[in-house]
Amino acid sequence: MSDDALLQGALDAARDFGCAERRHRIAPEVDPATIRAHLREVYGDFAQPLSGQTVLADVVRMLREWNLHITHPRYFGLFNPSVVPASVAGDLLVAAFNPQLAAWSHAPAANEIERYTLAFFARRLGLPEHTVAHFTSGGAEANHTAFVVALADGFPEHVEQGLAALPRRPVVYASGESHHSLDKIARATGLGRSALRLVAVDTAMRIDVAALRAAIERDRAAGLAPFLVVATAGTTGVGAVDPLPELARLCAEERLWLHVDAAWGGAACLSPRLRAEISSIERADSVTWDAHKYLSVPMGAGMFFCSRPGAVRRAFEARTPYMPQPIDGTVDPYSSTLQWSRRHTGLKVFMALAALGEEGYRRQIEHQADMGDAMRAALRRRRFTVLGDGPLPVVCFTRQEIAGGRIAAADLAAWTVRQNFWVSPLRVPGHERPVLRACITSYATQQGDVEALAETVDRGIAELAPSS
Ligand SMILES: *Cc1c(COP(=O)(O)O)cnc(C)c1O
Repeated sequence: MSDDALLQGALDAARDFGCAERRHRIAPEVDPATIRAHLREVYGDFAQPLSGQTVLADVVRMLREWNLHITHPRYFGLFNPSVVPASVAGDLLVAAFNPQLAAWSHAPAANEIERYTLAFFARRLGLPEHTVAHFTSGGAEANHTAFVVALADGFPEHVEQGLAALPRRPVVYASGESHHSLDKIARATGLGRSALRLVAVDTAMRIDVAALRAAIERDRAAGLAPFLVVATAGTTGVGAVDPLPELARLCAEERLWLHVDAAWGGAACLSPRLRAEISSIERADSVTWDAHKYLSVPMGAGMFFCSRPGAVRRAFEARTPYMPQPIDGTVDPYSSTLQWSRRHTGLKVFMALAALGEEGYRRQIEHQADMGDAMRAALRRRRFTVLGDGPLPVVCFTRQEIAGGRIAAADLAAWTVRQNFWVSPLRVPGHERPVLRACITSYATQQGDVEALAETVDRGIAELAPSS
């Protein structure tokens, strides 16, 4: 098989699979031993080169059969989207051109495309003109970046001397519903897990601001150094948005860095209807927003925005004789971000945005929100209790049979997955037993899909708990 035919074959396979694929079973039934044995049998020690055709056919079959299809319109999962075709085209071009974005002079077009794209999103978030931004591997890296930058801002001596030299121990605050990447970052930055204060949430799963205020006061009195509050705009569990206006006010008063983790919820800023959900996000010192969630592009495509360029510079400044000289009027990403070699992550986002237009994105985002509303209504018609009343499309629900302990949410979720949907059980504060969670993650999900889910979980309850 020629190289041309190989590339053409990969393209054909991608086209045949589609970007919101309905024809395949969502969840594979396969165990590790099967896949490992297959790899050993076909590839051995890679002693003999195989034809491109053989490898392509085998890989496509593995991806089709032994993969959980998150792009399926009935995958109601963990913020993993169907992908916009233009974004797939973008990622293909990036692989082939392989631009190196570390230094502006190595990839002028790519660097300017990213800058242009990020400036558009920064404007839509309402962040000030001087905001700096870059793409990251995902939300975890963007959150990590926020910690590093906030540390450099709050404790300039830390850049040189490290944490050990600080007279008072730095502490961070986030809600108990915040993303678990923060826990890992607390370890990776040397702050230590116990420096991350997980504050209680209210009945809507939003951070309790009074409890936060009390925790800050207590820590200051104990000789610690509060420096960072991480607000979540769209929690992974129930999609809750922390009260950003109050948090912005508190952080201004207390002189704390406000980072908003809007990995999923950031997309609300592209919809006039949903924008109010995240209002005051423009007052954040930094923001995380993943394009690979609600913006429907392939992983990984995180974004980090910061309205304090000086702190970013202090955190990441780097110079070495082997890197090209910086060019006036540009910033080299290797000396302004955590990464060094840098993939052109932004092209798939740029191409999706250009192909859909802002209006197309608005429609797509609002369609998913509409499907969330439709799912809530369909569940309520079948006597389910729906948690929360926000307009973002994460739908958590339970019913008397689950809440009362006759059926475990995990069993009902597993049963539902066997009917070719994907939903998950979720433990939620204030509920004695886990509930079910379903998120609209595909722009291709239709009314019939959400009705089918409600009908199916209703039937599942009847099957698993026969009313004897
Ligand atoms: C997904 C998510 C993250 C982590 O982002 P990755 O892209 O998976 O690294 C962080 N915070 C929130 C709120 C998320 O939803």
